[in-house]
Amino acid sequence: MRPSGRREVEPEQTVPELRRDPLTRDWVVLAPGRAHRPNRLSQPVTAPPPPVSTEPDCPFCPGNEDRTPPELWRRHDADGGWTVRVVPNRFPLLADRPVPARHRRDGPFVTTDGFGSHEVVIEGRRHDLDLPDLDEQAVAAVFEAYRARSRALRDGRASLVLPFRNHGTASGASLPHPHSQIVAVRVVPDRFRRRLDIARAYYEDRGNPLDADVTAAELGEGTRVIAVSEHVVAHAPFASSAPYQIRITPREQRASFADESGETVADTANMVRRLLTALRRMLGDVPYSYMIISAPNGEERTSFCSWHLDVMPRLAVAGGFELGSGMAVNPVFPEQAAARLRDAMASPAASRSRRPALRDAAQALGETSTTPTGSTGAVEEGAVQQPQEGRHPGPSSGTMEQRGDDR
Ligand SMILES: [Zn+2]
Repeated sequence: MRPSGRREVEPEQTVPELRRDPLTRDWVVLAPGRAHRPNRLSQPVTAPPPPVSTEPDCPFCPGNEDRTPPELWRRHDADGGWTVRVVPNRFPLLADRPVPARHRRDGPFVTTDGFGSHEVVIEGRRHDLDLPDLDEQAVAAVFEAYRARSRALRDGRASLVLPFRNHGTASGASLPHPHSQIVAVRVVPDRFRRRLDIARAYYEDRGNPLDADVTAAELGEGTRVIAVSEHVVAHAPFASSAPYQIRITPREQRASFADESGETVADTANMVRRLLTALRRMLGDVPYSYMIISAPNGEERTSFCSWHLDVMPRLAVAGGFELGSGMAVNPVFPEQAAARLRDAMASPAASRSRRPALRDAAQALGETSTTPTGSTGAVEEGAVQQPQEGRHPGPSSGTMEQRGDDR
């Protein structure tokens, strides 16, 4: 559904612009000229491995359940076989020890124990079916796992619970069997505190929740809206820090995804499934991460901020300027990213049959500033190399071992 009142996309945005993220106050450099520089990403993103529905050595495949730690949560079908499993990560990035976190301070240096939890959500039985290839109910069950485990970990007194998914080796994924992860920590990172402070100040000043105002403004403005469903809105954020960044927000504000209704969880899952499908049609098997950002635990009843889910395609590598300044550089204007994603979502049949996938990441970026209108964008005939193919199961290489660096 397209919102009413949407302006036409600017025909060409070739002049760099600095934009400030309303939620974090981080600055982002929108730099269309950066798309034309030589880029090591001008190689095809990934070569799809031959499809195998079950891999004998894979610890996540059916039959190998004894190769994971004991299950924490499962969804099963009518026959009693599991369809989604949540297990502790065998190589966790944090220690799951029943000891209280101890703070130590030595002059300017502060240490606390690396206590927390790290769980793996095995998204399905098939080794070769990626998340967007699963049906609506199967994806909804994965998101139900995020909600259920987020609640359980919050009750275990974690300060912050973060469900996320890495796809492709460039995003940090190390095991091909489709899975996501949930990490819970006992500290609240500064950026979360700052976001809360900004939202609180805005609420005290204006009397409205900031996130709700941003979503309402995006719906009114329209150019960055990608899709609207009964319970959620997907848009390209005003200050997108990565090319084709997508944000999903609930239409009815709620601080924590753990407290979301079953309908909204299912609606979010389906929106993610559609968006990932559209992204793959446009860019091929692009690496990405998505994560669900909620208010820290203890703030889940707050009325002034809301959870959101960000999809971040991993098309660019941060350089010295980005690392030094803390400012992201993004060569794709969010208005154009949104127009292309709308297009890819609106006519799936047409996209599939007529429009070749844009496999070349540098080309995806390079096409941006020369595209005359955002409406057909990067998928014009002649601007691409290879015909559209079906789904791809994931990275072509990668160890079968479940590694702790998958984050
Ligand atoms: Zn497997």
